Amino acid sequence: MAKIKMTTPLVEMDGDEMTRILWKMIKDELLEPFVELNTEYYDLGLEYRNETSDQVTIDSANATKKYGVAVKCATITPNAARMTEYNLKEMYKSPNGTIRAILDGTVFRAPIIVNGIEPLVKNWKKPITIARHAYGDVYKGSELKVKGPGKAEIVYTAQDGTKTVELIHNFKGDGIIQGMHNLDGSISSFARSCFNFALDTKQDLWFATKDTISKKYDHTFKDIFQEIYDAEYADKFKAAGIEYFYTLIDDAVARVMRSEGGYIWACKNYDGDVMSDMVATAFGSLAMMTSVLVSPEGYYEYEAAHGTVQRHYYNYLKGMETSTNPVATIFAWTGALAKRGELDNIPELTKFANDLEKACIMTIESGKMTKDLAVIANIENIEVLNSLPFIQAIRETYEKNFA
Ligand code: NAP
Ligand code: MG
Repeated sequence: MAKIKMTTPLVEMDGDEMTRILWKMIKDELLEPFVELNTEYYDLGLEYRNETSDQVTIDSANATKKYGVAVKCATITPNAARMTEYNLKEMYKSPNGTIRAILDGTVFRAPIIVNGIEPLVKNWKKPITIARHAYGDVYKGSELKVKGPGKAEIVYTAQDGTKTVELIHNFKGDGIIQGMHNLDGSISSFARSCFNFALDTKQDLWFATKDTISKKYDHTFKDIFQEIYDAEYADKFKAAGIEYFYTLIDDAVARVMRSEGGYIWACKNYDGDVMSDMVATAFGSLAMMTSVLVSPEGYYEYEAAHGTVQRHYYNYLKGMETSTNPVATIFAWTGALAKRGELDNIPELTKFANDLEKACIMTIESGKMTKDLAVIANIENIEVLNSLPFIQAIRETYEKNFA
């Protein structure tokens, strides 16, 4: 059978540890036999990041701006232990942070749904995609401990020296203060990324804040979303048959619990931090969670939501076979290839990606899976496989049903 050809390069960002091992297996077994892969390769493995003083990460993000689509392997974010382990010149920033700063995007996380691995919330039938605003609020806050009586104020000094003052509190004793900010530009980018992704995936978009209490701060989020929606997206949403829906955060939480899923839930930074862990846990497994960074200009970077699975890698280095789940990393590739196919008008590439995703799910539903899923699956005749045999089983399913 002739391999599927690609016209535009896909930006390939290789990574670290166990996921780097899976990366190669996936390419060898599931992609290269069927697709003439056309990628521009960037090695974001920590050794090469160190060799290039992290320039390779910046280059890979710029390449994503050039070509529009990237697929990324999980990477190590260095800490003190990694400094010695890899003999690093400096403690480099998280590659995801660096890439996000260059692309100015929003991260969308969605679970992969499999029959037999049921969400803890029994009415959730379809994925719930969380979009977390990744700038500002309490994550860039300033804090102060107040000792004794005194007056706390917010002061804004304009460039011409004019001051605007707002009383926080007249303290009678000890207490605490927090100051935080956000930017209209960042909120607008967040809104556009969310609206674009909703159109892209044909799902409703929900957004919620606490605007009844926070009448200026949270209300600005609500207003910016609404203004951009009315001016740029209302017609497109109507044509796509989807809805934008704003409500209070408490109401949103109650509705999410009663819903059957199948929508995007846009969250402010803190809400997204907390709610994405809740949603991921309720859907079953971090190893079954996909993640895509979408920039307001429409650049896409696909990856798995989990890390480099360090513990498994150390076993692998000792010569042990590991049962590390490759599904989220496979879905990063299929997401990117499907997007490339869509942008370049190569329907057979998009179909290949969609079929390969189906083959992953069918393989698990037939009982063949990695260890992490075996302990949570409610499926008969489970056969626990190590990573490579599992990937080969997916290939068999694909060849039997779709090739
Ligand atoms: P991790 O790689 O997400 O793994 C934590 C644990 O979750 C694993 O030990 C394993 O549990 C389970 N797990 C995660 N993915 C799995 C998979 N695909 N199959 C089976 N089990 C899986 O987090 P970590 O080990 O704490 O972090 C390792 C490195 O990843 C760190 O250096 C961190 O900086 C980096 N990281 C990168 C990204 C990214 O690039 N996007 C994200 C997060 C973390 P058991 O050990 O119980 O089997
Ligand atoms: Mg968190």
